[in-house]
Amino acid sequence: MSHPFVWVPGGGVRHASGDVVPLPGVEFPEGVVVSTLCGVEVSAETGEVAWLWGTCRDCDERTRELVGLELLAEIERRAGAEVRS
Ligand SMILES: [Zn+2]
Repeated sequence: MSHPFVWVPGGGVRHASGDVVPLPGVEFPEGVVVSTLCGVEVSAETGEVAWLWGTCRDCDERTRELVGLELLAEIERRAGAEVRS
């Protein structure tokens, strides 16, 4: 089963997007403007280095919510670590 979002590197961060990836549907082509789950628009970037960028915190939380994983905020609260990025 696929999830209703896809990860997309853009602007130096790895975001998640609910936009439909054009066929063959592996990743957004370079330069395509994509709406992210955290509410910004980024120009999609490709390549190995781009995929190694850090994950957008807001997109991480939204995707956790969508797939039913525990939120980072919950995990941090339980661990007693108030991490602010
Ligand atoms: Zn984001």
